Amino acid sequence: MMQHLTILGATGSIGTSTLDVVARHPDRYRVFALTAFRQLEKLAEQIAAFRPTFAVVPDLASRESLRLMLIERGVTCELLVGEGGLCEVATHAEVTTVMAAIVGAVGLPPTLAAVRAGKRVLLANKEALVMSGRLFMDEARQSGATVLPIDSEHNAVFQSLPSQFEYGLEEAGVTKVLLTASGGPFRTWPIEQLKSVTPDQAVAHPNWVMGRKISVDSATMMNKGLEVIEARWLFGIGGDRIDVVIHPQSVIHSMVQYADGSVVAQLGNPDMRTPIAHALAYPQRIASGVAPLDFASIAALTFETPDLNRFPCLRLAYAALKADGLAPTVLNAANEIAVSAFLDRQISYLDIASTVEAVLDSCDTGKAESLEDVLVADGSARRMAQAFIDKRLRGAA
Ligand code: NAD
Ligand code: MG
Repeated sequence: MMQHLTILGATGSIGTSTLDVVARHPDRYRVFALTAFRQLEKLAEQIAAFRPTFAVVPDLASRESLRLMLIERGVTCELLVGEGGLCEVATHAEVTTVMAAIVGAVGLPPTLAAVRAGKRVLLANKEALVMSGRLFMDEARQSGATVLPIDSEHNAVFQSLPSQFEYGLEEAGVTKVLLTASGGPFRTWPIEQLKSVTPDQAVAHPNWVMGRKISVDSATMMNKGLEVIEARWLFGIGGDRIDVVIHPQSVIHSMVQYADGSVVAQLGNPDMRTPIAHALAYPQRIASGVAPLDFASIAALTFETPDLNRFPCLRLAYAALKADGLAPTVLNAANEIAVSAFLDRQISYLDIASTVEAVLDSCDTGKAESLEDVLVADGSARRMAQAFIDKRLRGAA
């Protein structure tokens, strides 16, 4: 059956890879809507190629620019703006499937709207789930939405679990979920040198090409910390059963350990088109354009335990998961502010972890009863992180 697809964050790394897979299967997928924030030229190209019914941009000025670009190309498309527009295309009656690939907390409202509308939600936007965990999954259960993981680790875990896992991992004999991590660009650097890391060094990931924010998160391993929290909610497994294993080759994308000693893993080349194609076609399989693994050229797969002194963000994420309530929301918000200040060269690489820790220590991390609670906690953690950074900058001046 034809799937009608909305891609939230179409111009990003995940959005672009999604369109690459979709273009290979015009008989299965129709693009219904595309959304973008800044790269309007790229969006105009995508609209010309895929002819969606709707496109969404952040504001009226962007809408006017995009309108002119489309006239130049002789293409028509209905243009919407802002969060309202995003929620409209995420929930529209014609839409069957929503790729949630906006980066950061701004992706929560449209992603949650898609979940509430009972859509098939392909979840790349991990921040949305991390900040609203229990609420997000409760909404999915109530609406009957299908949430399929795009994050390569969670997609690998999903593929390695028995198909009936939602009836309880305990009964399925699952003892551990093992998330693999590349260790990022600084895995082997002398720890004393980390204080001088530049944004360009931090975004140069050894194995994956990704957006800037997630690339910095991979360098600090906050990305893996967010993924531990993401796994907790997607698979309903406690943090004490989720381990992180450093595996620098990024060939094994994650594993599930069973009571009988079996470990089931998913392997492949590090290319997001594999998990994207898996989730798009699930439970079938389709071509993704990814080359098969060449085992002889890989030669060796190696493993290490993460050093929490080198990667304090990973420790902070486990602590936030244990604290529960709004702590993961606060962790995520403080991290988004800190990463953006680091990318703007306002704070150092090591300040990312210290900002998150300071905010976690001083923020109210009570219960997350409603979306309102989550958004309020997100806002106040952002303000606190910014105040911490401003103070630091004044100190440095
Ligand atoms: P990216 O920076 O390349 O793209 C982000 C997209 O979000 C762009 O289309 C951008 O226009 C849109 N966007 C940004 N700010 C916005 C705003 N304020 N309002 C509306 N739209 C906005 O990021 P990416 O690497 O594609 O990552 C997207 C999400 O997928 C992130 O949550 C990331 O953690 C997750 N993810 C990415 C990868 C990967 O390989 N890139 C892997 C796993 C998970
Ligand atoms: Mg990942």
